[in-house]
Amino acid sequence: MVYVEEKTDLAWDAFLDDSKRKHVEGFQKFIWPTIRREIASEYGIVVEDEPHWVDSGQVVFWQRPLVRQFGGKILEGEWEPVSPRDGLPVQNANQMVRYFNKGMRLRPGKTDLKIVADNPVVKEEPAPPAYTCERHGENKFAMPNWKSYAQHCFHHMEELEAEPPENIKRQMREFPYFCKLCNVPFKSLQNARRHFNDQRRKGNRNALMHKDFSELEMTDGRDESGGEEG
Ligand SMILES: [Zn+2]
Ligand SMILES: [Zn+2]
Repeated sequence: MVYVEEKTDLAWDAFLDDSKRKHVEGFQKFIWPTIRREIASEYGIVVEDEPHWVDSGQVVFWQRPLVRQFGGKILEGEWEPVSPRDGLPVQNANQMVRYFNKGMRLRPGKTDLKIVADNPVVKEEPAPPAYTCERHGENKFAMPNWKSYAQHCFHHMEELEAEPPENIKRQMREFPYFCKLCNVPFKSLQNARRHFNDQRRKGNRNALMHKDFSELEMTDGRDESGGEEG
């Protein structure tokens, strides 16, 4: 474990075991630059800090865990390293951005993601981030698509405020049940119930977010005969 006062100044190799150093240096030289470039060009996020690599493609992120207080209130705890021994897998840009969207950061205290200044070198879709969440004080979270937006809200246990895209709205119309939290449609009451109960049983965020089954009910004229997978 690492005990340092100024954790933001932590060296990138603070968690690195020397036996893995050669591996990691190869990854840093040949693969990481491409991932970093893609994070900027495809997601508009500038990665400034060198990740805490612990193996090739394995990063120790920092996160403020949600802590349940006595009495049920939920607060964010102190920054702590996530899986400080093995890290989390980062083999491509998408993986790293997924962790960012869950609130994980490369250094403690750095809640803000630096966004690429105007004129990013994007080829096809020069679209701005599709979804943003501004419910974090001064910090703004940007998500490239509905799925990552839903994951973000789930992780921070926030209501989904944004308007879903057409394909999701269509599914909500076509299926009698739909879990907006998980983005899954269901054909039957039975399947929807099973999903709801499974999530309740998982505890943690899943149980806390799936608090009211009626939120999965989309239409009134539903067909309860189907027993197929939703
Ligand atoms: Zn949020
Ligand atoms: Zn769900």
